[in-house]
Amino acid sequence: NQFEEYDLNEGVKNSLTVARNEVKYVAEVQQDLTPIPPIKAIGSQINQVILNIILNATHAIKAKGLDSLGLITIKTYADERFAYCSIEDNGTGIPEEARKDIFNPFFTTKPVGEGTGLGLSISYDIIVNKHHGEISFISEVGVGTVFIIKLPLVQ
Ligand code: ADP
Ligand code: MG
Repeated sequence: NQFEEYDLNEGVKNSLTVARNEVKYVAEVQQDLTPIPPIKAIGSQINQVILNIILNATHAIKAKGLDSLGLITIKTYADERFAYCSIEDNGTGIPEEARKDIFNPFFTTKPVGEGTGLGLSISYDIIVNKHHGEISFISEVGVGTVFIIKLPLVQ
């Protein structure tokens, strides 16, 4: 396998670089990154998850049709056992009835051709099955959504 020493903050920066053109006209990005001990991870996969969540955030902001710029806030932090990355947006929020389905493969609320509905199911597989972490979210319709990924630190 390709598990390696992975720096979560580097991963956030990487994913933001890749997402730059998608984000640019849609949202301001605030970063609050704190130093994090290294994680043993497949870095490219974690980056894919972060990218995916950032792109979903831009879609939710666009869908809300904000007159002013949206806001995406990315934070990293750690406790004794886990590293965390939270990605918050002030987009549409996730309707109550959709919440149980968003990690299911092919579940999408986007128009045909715009979403495969695979992003979050792949993210779940990467974080939970491959890295023994957790992915969760808190959402309020009309206010926004925060996704949190939690990854075990090297002990
Ligand atoms: P896709 O982006 O292709 O639709 P995903 O698996 O990435 O597939 O997301 C599934 C669904 O979860 C989206 O269609 C959307 O309804 C919802 N969703 C995900 N992230 C957000 C978010 N930040 N704000 C609002 N809805 C979201
Ligand atoms: Mg997606």
